[in-house]
Amino acid sequence: MSCRKDPLSPSSGPLAATPASGTTTLCSLSDPRLCDMLAFMCPQDRAFLDDLRARGVTVTTFDRLYFEDPYYDGTQWTTRHFEAGGTTSGTDINMLMGTDAGENAATLYHEGIHTGQPSTMRWRDKEYQAYIAEDQWRISHGLPPSDPSFRTHDSTGRPVTDTAAIGRFVDREYPGVTSTAASGGPPEQVIGRTSSGDTIVQRNDGTIYTRPPRAGDSYAGPQISEPPGGRPIPTDQLRCP
Ligand SMILES: [Zn+2]
Repeated sequence: MSCRKDPLSPSSGPLAATPASGTTTLCSLSDPRLCDMLAFMCPQDRAFLDDLRARGVTVTTFDRLYFEDPYYDGTQWTTRHFEAGGTTSGTDINMLMGTDAGENAATLYHEGIHTGQPSTMRWRDKEYQAYIAEDQWRISHGLPPSDPSFRTHDSTGRPVTDTAAIGRFVDREYPGVTSTAASGGPPEQVIGRTSSGDTIVQRNDGTIYTRPPRAGDSYAGPQISEPPGGRPIPTDQLRCP
């Protein structure tokens, strides 16, 4: 299972300020967009980048990452498309590298949070934590929220992360991570289906059972990547210039 991050739709916020280019005309790294991303992050995120390297985190960049998640529509199992901005498995990050330095940096930050989370955490809890951390990082870097609902303001007008809105977003968008328990207890997670089409569910205590499928049941499908192997970033390049 991999953690994911939704990409920002280009129309969902004002364009981020990008660092002035022109003063530095040469990028000595493997991808000029990496130079722009690091210029955006540094020096503020120096410790974050140092920690990624110290923990052996790998970063591979892609043009597109998506999933076709199995989904029960109430009548049959079909699929639901999920366009991702990044994914993390263990300490290996896959991320989109686009043209917006701030958005690239936000994706790296979100996925970097995932690389430090214990494997025992529930997927929904991993996403709640990563989105909250990402939005606080966005506030500190003057970026708009990745989803407009994630941001509110305090009484003095300063931007504040709306953690409840993030919870609703993750529950709605991530496949099967928050399935209502028939017993009324804590939420469960849909993790698959049987050959006969029953839904496989994991209770909050980790035990597993099957039940007839309900409309909206979904679970993670395979990751589809373009280009297939991506472009690995040499780890030593993940540092402040
Ligand atoms: Zn995530």
